[in-house]
Amino acid sequence: MQTSVLDSKKDPLGAMLMDYWNGRKQAFVTIDSSLLEMSQMSGKIMFRRFDQMSPIEHKALALCRGKILDVGAGSGCHSLYLQEQGREVAALDISPGCIEVMEKRKVGLRLHNSLFNLENQYDTLLMLMNGLGICGTLDGLNLFFQYIKPLLRTGGQVLADSTDLSSLYCNCPIIPGEEGYYGETDFVMGYKDIKGDPFEWLYIDYATLAYYASFHGWQCDRIMEDDNGKYLVRIH
Ligand code: SAH
Repeated sequence: MQTSVLDSKKDPLGAMLMDYWNGRKQAFVTIDSSLLEMSQMSGKIMFRRFDQMSPIEHKALALCRGKILDVGAGSGCHSLYLQEQGREVAALDISPGCIEVMEKRKVGLRLHNSLFNLENQYDTLLMLMNGLGICGTLDGLNLFFQYIKPLLRTGGQVLADSTDLSSLYCNCPIIPGEEGYYGETDFVMGYKDIKGDPFEWLYIDYATLAYYASFHGWQCDRIMEDDNGKYLVRIH
């Protein structure tokens, strides 16, 4: 898990989003992984409007209440929507480029920091686009559950999505072996000549997530899921 902000020289996502904002509409980052196939993430996807978002995102936005923290806000698409609805929202990201893009897009309240370095309290932590990924590993998930306790006001909630990789890549049950949990992945992002540091990213199946949550005294409800193994949870 990333506990501090990124160096601007190692921020491919932020650089790509700035280029996209400045008119390079074909811009995308490459994402290299030792476990998953090489993929890309485009500026177009990161700048999606409300009507281009998935039903899971629509549902999560509808469930937001009180003082909201958009965790790993990216280009700020969810924060902008909530802001337009008159909601109280802060957009948090470790990427200096993302913060700059959100400033250009007029996201009112931006926090350049890591989730694992905060002090304020919120009613809703919104974590979308496989948002639980920022926990990195199952150990990181354990820390996350301890960490969010003081961050949430009484009655507060986490709205987050994740994907069960076993339903995406395999029809058979995967037995976690010596390699560790099958949803623990790692990525390296690149854009032009900018290469980010490798980072861990967690994809977690619902049963394991609910187990870890209850261990820490949280209730975890699956709100909805799609055909690709992605699901939305409310942790409270
Ligand atoms: N939620 C956005 C962006 C998802 S990409 C969307 O749905 O479009 C994930 C984002 O999380 C990136 O912008 C990355 O910089 C940010 N991030 C990663 N680790 C973080 C951490 N520890 N604290 C805050 N933001 C983090």
